[in-house]
Amino acid sequence: MDDQFDVVIVGSGMGGATTAYALALKGKKVLVLERGSRVPKEIQNWSPKDIFIKKRYRSDEVWVDKNNKEFAPGVHYIVGGNTKLYGASLPRFKECDFGEIKHHEGVSPAWPFSYSDIEPFYYEAEKLYKVHGTVEPDPSGPWRANPFPYPAMEHEPYIQDLAERLRKVGVTPIANSMGIDIGPGGNCIRCNTCDGFICKLDAKSDAEINALNPAIATGNVELRTESQVMKVVLTSDGKSVDHLLVNGPSGEYKVTGKKFVISTGAVNTSALLLKSKSDIAPNGVANSSDQVGRNFMMHNNSHIVVFDWKRKNDVTFQKTLSFSDWYSDGGDGYPLGTVQLIGKVQGIMMRTVAKRVPLPILNYIANRSVEFLVMAEDLPHKDNRVTVNSNGQIRTSRTAVGVSTHQTLMRRTKKVLLKAGYTAIFVQGYDISINAHQCGTTVAGHDPKTSVVDQYCKTHDLKNLYLIDGGFFPSSGAMNPALTIAAQALRVVAQSDLGK
Ligand SMILES: Cc1cc2nc3c(=O)[nH]c(=O)nc-3n(C[C@H](O)[C@H](O)[C@H](O)COP(=O)(O)OP(=O)(O)OC[C@H]3O[C@@H](n4cnc5c(N)ncnc54)[C@H](O)[C@@H]3O)c2cc1C
Repeated sequence: MDDQFDVVIVGSGMGGATTAYALALKGKKVLVLERGSRVPKEIQNWSPKDIFIKKRYRSDEVWVDKNNKEFAPGVHYIVGGNTKLYGASLPRFKECDFGEIKHHEGVSPAWPFSYSDIEPFYYEAEKLYKVHGTVEPDPSGPWRANPFPYPAMEHEPYIQDLAERLRKVGVTPIANSMGIDIGPGGNCIRCNTCDGFICKLDAKSDAEINALNPAIATGNVELRTESQVMKVVLTSDGKSVDHLLVNGPSGEYKVTGKKFVISTGAVNTSALLLKSKSDIAPNGVANSSDQVGRNFMMHNNSHIVVFDWKRKNDVTFQKTLSFSDWYSDGGDGYPLGTVQLIGKVQGIMMRTVAKRVPLPILNYIANRSVEFLVMAEDLPHKDNRVTVNSNGQIRTSRTAVGVSTHQTLMRRTKKVLLKAGYTAIFVQGYDISINAHQCGTTVAGHDPKTSVVDQYCKTHDLKNLYLIDGGFFPSSGAMNPALTIAAQALRVVAQSDLGK
């Protein structure tokens, strides 16, 4: 029965939903299999306690790290995937990110396609995800054939003042590229429950609202929720996918189709391929190169919280500013990364790190703080990898590469923030559990011996299998990944056999 589908897509996050949307517009019949359910509109969508303390929408899976220490991964198995809770900061990668870049601690490899190749699809993705931005001076900004589809979100007075302070100390504040339905006719009410929350008003651009629902509305796409793909089964010659084994609400069943796309997120995609090993694919599916699971990346990220005790931060929507002055050259010819405001942290959210501090004190602190994400590139390494233990548990082994670059970026950032008038600084590094920006593990390349997919995310090994999610990234850049995943999904459907 499932042979009626031209394409079966596994996963409804950024990669899967955007692929479904593009295929639906081409008239293709598509089945989307998603292990999670739709998140209901409920009071908890906007509750900091439910989201940050009780972790209501997080998966209850347990993974292990390189020392076999268990941790709860920051992943969300729901329709729309991680984009339901993400920060909707949707910048393009810089033009230089697509070429080889020398770092202090190694080399960021070139991609099998250039910025020019993906530029038109970045614009299409920006339209689809309603990206607001401006081409105001960004020292390392990539060229654009078209202006942003929507104007930049305005800074609130506190952030406008921060921008002036930063300018005075020599950095160039730029507008964050935000995927938000704000402006004439838009649903956004500019609240403080955006970054990290689920939008009750469908005003944060996410994969479910902006891509999957419009795809289903064409009549060409069927979504099956609570349908976890357990195994990818190959034809007897080992050259194609024959069917998927699915664990659905009424038990296990097979799904056949003409072409298959796996978009379950970098870690889960490689884990699924490895778990699917068989006599015909003893090393796992699409893994003749032994590269599946390798080159796992997640950025070298930290939060910086700075305080100005004399001034209250009364901002509602904080995430409108970033700076990338040292993105490709920190002064010695080597790149550093980017610094972005994040959504305003509320007192109760600080409980995740300050468990015993009374709430009134946390509120006092949060009312006077401003929070940044400091993001540096995480270089790929063959031994940073996803594997699957004999009990089926996912293992992510990682020793960060590029730590000195991150440390330099942190020092530079702290220095300018102190010069800009902030008096105290608190720093929180990201550990392995915060793998929000997970990428790599099924990297794209021209050479089937050193990569898993080609420049169009088609597996080198199999005729009818594509992997479209953060897994294809050959390098992580130092930019938020989601827009690049969406742009590549649109490019793959427009230019490869998948859309034919
Ligand atoms: C808190 C948070 C904040 C973030 N903020 C930003 C941001 O501001 N900007 C940005 O660019 N990025 C951000 N990210 C990262 C961004 O969300 C991801 O890069 C993006 O969602 C990855 O897309 P994907 O298609 O690879 O995977 P996902 O979007 O995670 O989708 C994977 C989907 O596959 C499903 N799935 C998994 N396994 C199976 C299976 N076996 N069978 C069926 N379905 C399966 C999952 O349930 C999920 O729906 C953030 C992430 C988090 C967690």
